[in-house]
Amino acid sequence: MADSRAFCPRCGDPIADRSGSDATESAASSGDADERGIREPAAGDTDLCRACYFDDFEFVNAPQQVDVRVCARCGAVHRGQRWVDVGAEDYTDVAIEEVSDALGVHVDAADVAWQVEPEQVDENTIRMHCYFTGVVRGEPVEEQVTVPVRIARQTCTRCGRIAGDYYASIVQIRAEDRTPVPEEIDRAKAIANDIVAEMEATGDRNAFITELSETPDGLNMKVSTNKIGKKISNKMVEEFGGTVNDAETLVTEDEDGNEVYRVTFAVRLPPYRPGDVIELEDDADDDGPILVRSARGNLKGTRVTTGDHYEADYEEGNSPDARKLGELDDGVETTVVTVEDENAVQVLDPETYQAKTVARPDYFDPDAETVPVLKSRAGLHVLPDEGDD
Ligand SMILES: [Zn+2]
Ligand SMILES: [Zn+2]
Repeated sequence: MADSRAFCPRCGDPIADRSGSDATESAASSGDADERGIREPAAGDTDLCRACYFDDFEFVNAPQQVDVRVCARCGAVHRGQRWVDVGAEDYTDVAIEEVSDALGVHVDAADVAWQVEPEQVDENTIRMHCYFTGVVRGEPVEEQVTVPVRIARQTCTRCGRIAGDYYASIVQIRAEDRTPVPEEIDRAKAIANDIVAEMEATGDRNAFITELSETPDGLNMKVSTNKIGKKISNKMVEEFGGTVNDAETLVTEDEDGNEVYRVTFAVRLPPYRPGDVIELEDDADDDGPILVRSARGNLKGTRVTTGDHYEADYEEGNSPDARKLGELDDGVETTVVTVEDENAVQVLDPETYQAKTVARPDYFDPDAETVPVLKSRAGLHVLPDEGDD
């Protein structure tokens, strides 16, 4: 028995019960520590007697004060070397999180629990009253610490750039031989906002829109990176057809002497939009006007005389020589007088109310009492009912 007795290396007192239940406890808790990946306490510490051990045992390690830099504009928090979006509701949440990151608990402590009570001292100071409990060497321990948190309101890099009208890329939305319609302008803005929101959601703080401005011939968007400019313009063309051209302008050199380019993406939407009724200017073409169905890739549509499918040649792409007669929305409901045969139908001219014989396209419903018609310089044509397809 005497051989197995240990003595405290500091005070020399015999350590009576280290081989008893406490040893088992100690082994169990060091097992826990391993699982949690916490370093093993130094051998000297564990050999001390209870009195010496607790003499310099520090359960909670708290800083004198925690300084938190927050962006007064967007609420981002400065951590390490950078600004981070934390999505905090208010600065108290931010303060609690920063304090919990700054507090340390002794590795020997098991079953640690803590609670915190913030006390708002003034606009920029929150006092954090923290109460800790745990178990060390089989004994319950508790400690209360108060950590003042100072909030410094600043402007983060991104907000500073936005305020300074910084941008790296311009996206111009234009259309060939026409002005973009409100629907296209609105969609372009929505696409830009979606792309930036998506990038922000992945933690990218360099994604923002500096300016959206409508001009007489379209929309200009100043954005923070070339990547965003490229994404917006590609998405526009994917949805509406048309083309993108990009042009680089040397703006400056960065601090490392690299040349910095600003890229302008010029989106040209196709001249005709789905719903337009056009007449080809090709003299050899006498199959009648076309209701445009798609302007992505080659222009595609439906002949309003027959209902036949039309697709422009590869060379013509989305802009065959044509003139616009009107739009599907311009169609006026008029009375069907009589169905003459499989190629002709009689309807009332919506302006003169005279019966007129017009071409009967295959989408014409012979049981219909009224049909939408478009009267243009190309004559009177039966249009499909909107929502037919
Ligand atoms: Zn001792
Ligand atoms: Zn900010």
